[in-house]
Amino acid sequence: MSVMHFSVPRDIVYGENALQTLSTLKGKRAVLVTGGSSMKRFGFLEQAQSLLEKAGMTCIVIDGVEPNPSVTTVQRGAKAMLEFEPDWIVAIGGGSALDAAKVMWCFYEHPQLKFEDIIAVGSMPPLRNKARFVAIPSTSGTASEITAFSVITDTENHIKYPIVAADMVPDLAILDPAIPELMPPHITANTGMDVLAHATEAVASIAATSFTDPYAIEAIRLVLENLETAYHEPHNKTARFNMHNASALAGMAFTNASLGLVHSLAHKIGGEFGVTHGLANAILMPYIITFNRQFTDKYDRVEKLLGINDLAESVRQLNAKLGIPACFKQCDEVDFDESKFRDVLNRMSANAHADPCTLTNPGKPTVADVKALYTAAYYGTNQ
Ligand code: NDP
Ligand code: MN
Repeated sequence: MSVMHFSVPRDIVYGENALQTLSTLKGKRAVLVTGGSSMKRFGFLEQAQSLLEKAGMTCIVIDGVEPNPSVTTVQRGAKAMLEFEPDWIVAIGGGSALDAAKVMWCFYEHPQLKFEDIIAVGSMPPLRNKARFVAIPSTSGTASEITAFSVITDTENHIKYPIVAADMVPDLAILDPAIPELMPPHITANTGMDVLAHATEAVASIAATSFTDPYAIEAIRLVLENLETAYHEPHNKTARFNMHNASALAGMAFTNASLGLVHSLAHKIGGEFGVTHGLANAILMPYIITFNRQFTDKYDRVEKLLGINDLAESVRQLNAKLGIPACFKQCDEVDFDESKFRDVLNRMSANAHADPCTLTNPGKPTVADVKALYTAAYYGTNQ
């Protein structure tokens, strides 16, 4: 048996008013990094700024981080940081704002580096010579607040790069459930199903261990018991608290156990059709759980522990309650044109098979398996 590694994030503050922790940080200058407008509109940006000022810091804001953040946005932020010289970087927003801030941080610490220099795993030099990092997620989904990952898009070449570096795990994650409370229902549904995909894939992964399973299984339980409530009753504080925690817990599982075919297929169908990541995961999940059952008994264990009959069926029912269609053909978020689907199917299947997430899926699936799964999930048929 080979030597394995399990790592947990540095520090997590969670629960009502967790945001207040910002007033206890020690430093001189803080930069707040955020997305388009939601954090400003709901007053969280101003709250964060005044808490940092209470801690005796001067602040600037870098905003306008777009969904699927680009290399250009990261370079713009790093430039502002080099001029301001912060000792704290505080990212507040969805996974996109957090991911962009992580890589801005790297270029602030090492201005001589280019984006190409950090793409290879293990290539990022040590951080924390100039600043430390706080992550405050506003969606309950990606777990970027505790992971060593950042996804940055090269918009010129249309390629999404997963950047991996243990040093990018934030010093502090602040999980304040009041912040995701104002997420619109469809974003709650999509990001919440992303959490369920992280947890169900981490459980079935061939790299799953007794260290990762407890986090993944607890995250599955929390999503199955709370997502529907968070969707229908946005201000239900218990449901929001549980979903926000579930996201980070699932992150602890998948950061160590990695993922599987749901993410492989979601990444590539997202690339071809532009469908939202969590929505693609939600549609794919029941088909892939059913397929994976022939190779793993892990779902049996989850079902026994959580007292459910059939995990794929539970996911299907949850999708229906969240207004998520059963197959891509019925999905009207983007145009899933059938002739385009047929045209791209072979290429998309080969690319999804080559995605790094495929490596930890049970059962060594083939390109033909991937093609069959795409076809089933497109038409809503059984494999
Ligand atoms: P995004 O950060 O992309 O945000 C999506 C939309 O939701 C934006 O329009 C944003 O608006 C809005 N929004 C966010 N929070 C709120 C809120 N509380 N209330 C109202 N609107 C809100 O979404 P995700 O969190 O799903 O992040 C997706 C990104 O994360 C992708 O780039 C993906 O590749 C990456 N990712 C990263 C991982 C990691 O480990 N680092 C893992 C998986 C995915 P606004 O801009 O105005 O704030
Ligand atoms: Mn995901």
